[in-house]
Amino acid sequence: MKSILIEANHISKIYDPNILWKRGKNEYALRSVDFILEEGDFISVMGPSGSGKTTLINCITTLDKISKGHLKLFGRDTLAIKDTIIDDFRNKYLGFIFQNHNLIPSLSIYDNIAVPLLLNEVSNDEIDNKIKKVTKDLNIEKILDKKPYMCSGGECQRVAIARAIIQQPKIIVCDEPTGNLDSKNSHEVLRILSDMNKKGITIVLVTHDPLIASYSKKMMYLYDGSIINVVNRNSNNQVDFYHKIVNVTSKDSDIQRVLNNEEYIELNKEMFNKRTDVYMMINDREYDDKLKEQYRPLIIDDEYMIYINVYQEKVKISLSIIKGIKIDLISKTTGIGIFSDYLFYVNVDFVCDDMVLRFKAMNQDDMIDVIEKLEILGYDIEDKKNIKDIFYKYPLAYERGKYLRNTYKELLK
Ligand code: ADP
Ligand code: MG
Repeated sequence: MKSILIEANHISKIYDPNILWKRGKNEYALRSVDFILEEGDFISVMGPSGSGKTTLINCITTLDKISKGHLKLFGRDTLAIKDTIIDDFRNKYLGFIFQNHNLIPSLSIYDNIAVPLLLNEVSNDEIDNKIKKVTKDLNIEKILDKKPYMCSGGECQRVAIARAIIQQPKIIVCDEPTGNLDSKNSHEVLRILSDMNKKGITIVLVTHDPLIASYSKKMMYLYDGSIINVVNRNSNNQVDFYHKIVNVTSKDSDIQRVLNNEEYIELNKEMFNKRTDVYMMINDREYDDKLKEQYRPLIIDDEYMIYINVYQEKVKISLSIIKGIKIDLISKTTGIGIFSDYLFYVNVDFVCDDMVLRFKAMNQDDMIDVIEKLEILGYDIEDKKNIKDIFYKYPLAYERGKYLRNTYKELLK
């Protein structure tokens, strides 16, 4: 019998329990989710942006605390064991790979891969042997002396894989590992992960791309904090499995279908009780289909803003109700320990007479487009942190992590 590595029973996550006081309603990022990870599994987790994918993997790997329910790691209830033991479990058995490879810029590739071993006081000879072996397998043995900025995105992500597996973890957890890679490199990364899975490593992979998910053995589809669909690969080949996945996921990725639908609902205050991650779009600009699927777009034309909410309803907001606009830069930490990194996004508040509509702009280029569009339409934008100026100062540095890190330093001055 295969052993159970992680077992989650009815776990829920509420980010801000005080919301009950502030707005009268708790918002669940996860609602009573059951999840079992067995040795040798390769599970992909899909779902629209904001559906709880990151929250789910952070909770089951104890990076974040669950609000309700029970979680067992390697058969032991996390409530019953000390935090220090949980930390040891995580360091020993789990390897993480994130969308931004989170390599340390000042260290060579060799040292980046060595970091987890140095933390565990492994001898230099042993480190050298281990690094030679994994880097050969991942075909990065020639770049060991380089710094991350000298390497391509695909190479950096392979280095991140090397770092994640150097201690031979039992489970590899990946959150959109191919989110910043082109398709050739994405498939290369997935081939590497599949090979590892064949050698017995258990994998949990978050992705929004059905082709990437088709490498897994089981796809779980999250919607609004609940797992609403599970597709098993069984004996299907990869292409058939891919089609099955598309069947489930395309139900809500077809933004155009919704936009073409003439029906829409009027805005009401209740809708904004829920946090909304919206990818902003301008009507006559070309957009990448992948981005359209990943985020909910906010479309601004001369009279209306339109977006699609989590229930796939088209919400139309008349621009005439907007009295002012404020933008603010928000930082959040991702990752753990020395791999932690800042992630930034921009809150865009549309101030109306009796409410404030808050959108999170996930993409700086488009935030600037939206700001310019609104300025042309005659709106003043309150931008206390000079986000716009900073953006113009670093136009070529636009690459999510890099640009934002510059911005942050600039802001601190
Ligand atoms: P996904 O990874 O599927 O895009 P997340 O797990 O990041 O989704 O988010 C699920 C929900 O929880 C969203 O509504 C999001 O806005 C909210 N959320 C995520 N992180 C936080 C946080 N640190 N504080 C408050 N709400 C959060
Ligand atoms: Mg996420």
